[in-house]
Amino acid sequence: MTNQTIKEKGQAYLMNTFNRGSICMTEGNGSYLTDADGKKYLDFLAGIAVNALGHNHPKVTAAIAEQAAKLVHCSNMYWIEPQVQLAELLVTRSALDKVFFGNSGAEANEGAIKLARKYGREVHGEGCYEIITATNSFHGRTVATLTATGQKQFHKHFDPFLKGFHYVPFNDFQALVEQVSEKTCAILLEPIQGEGGVYPGDAAYLQQVRALCDEKDILLMFDEVQTGMGRTGTLFAYEAYGVEPDVMTLAKALGNGVPIGALMAKDFVASHFNPGDHGSTFGGNPLVCAAAVATIQAIEEENILANVNEMSAYFQGKLLAMQEKYSFITEVRGKGLLLGMELTMKGSDIVAKCMEKGVIINCTHDTVLRFLPPLNVTTAEIDQAVAVLDEVLGTL
Ligand SMILES: *Cc1c(COP(=O)(O)O)cnc(C)c1O
Repeated sequence: MTNQTIKEKGQAYLMNTFNRGSICMTEGNGSYLTDADGKKYLDFLAGIAVNALGHNHPKVTAAIAEQAAKLVHCSNMYWIEPQVQLAELLVTRSALDKVFFGNSGAEANEGAIKLARKYGREVHGEGCYEIITATNSFHGRTVATLTATGQKQFHKHFDPFLKGFHYVPFNDFQALVEQVSEKTCAILLEPIQGEGGVYPGDAAYLQQVRALCDEKDILLMFDEVQTGMGRTGTLFAYEAYGVEPDVMTLAKALGNGVPIGALMAKDFVASHFNPGDHGSTFGGNPLVCAAAVATIQAIEEENILANVNEMSAYFQGKLLAMQEKYSFITEVRGKGLLLGMELTMKGSDIVAKCMEKGVIINCTHDTVLRFLPPLNVTTAEIDQAVAVLDEVLGTL
């Protein structure tokens, strides 16, 4: 089928929840995607920070094929070898002690919200269930995670929401101090706000938040669904801040494309979950865990973190040079390969024009171009993306 026929059928049968344009992607290889009409694109969106190793990474593909031939699913009524392997890999590489696997970022955050509420009640008493999140944050699309998301645009049409959430401006410590009370069980933050427009947390702010949480025995929970698994140049973004969270959530890049999410916690928190408190039918099944194990192994074997840091400096240099050239670029910001370019105008036309020229970028929060290339991106690929972007910006 062609792009056009697939689109027409899709419009007939799928709910209209996404602005998908007119393109159907049918194949991927490394940093490139191919559509149903055979056109090739350089992919600087990477499935929204999911395809960390690019498309069809041979080690991940082999792990999926091998596991599919062995055992795809068996339920969490039994121990699952790839799930245990994956948990060990995550625990030994992070400051957290235990893992619960779900199927998405939202599900990981749902688990974090439940765990924080149970912890608050059991440690501080019945009234301790409130969670503070940041304005402009993004934590998912389920009702609880939408409530946690501090952006009104996502809230409209879907209230009433859950009780017990408060929002404070990100990177404003005084505002947070004023919101904290004996009812607060947790503070949930993205170390770098991704969907909200690529806003990095200030190190001093996150360190102050950590100290406040220690003083009041409040849980510090980091949503690393987008920042985790090397995206920002360390395996987890918190490492670069000198701040350890008590609870951390992962998803997007964890399985390089298979649906998997993880809720991680330190032992003193994780111990509050007992059999029956939480669960998931598919969560952590053999197939997705085998893919995630292969993903982490490849990240390490192929020195992906070093590449993220090198390519980040290279790419940022090019973006900053463009800022010098075009007065409508007001800021370049971000960390690792989670980079944003703030414009004085909407970015959607620029995204569309780049797409026509075979380069996929993204725009978030209306005026911020967001770049999320695969973490094994090369300088030649960055040059290609930059040349196309420069060409498009030059016509404005
Ligand atoms: C994408 C994202 C989520 C939601 O993940 P889903 O897998 O879409 O449920 C949650 N938090 C952050 C920070 C994200 O970027």
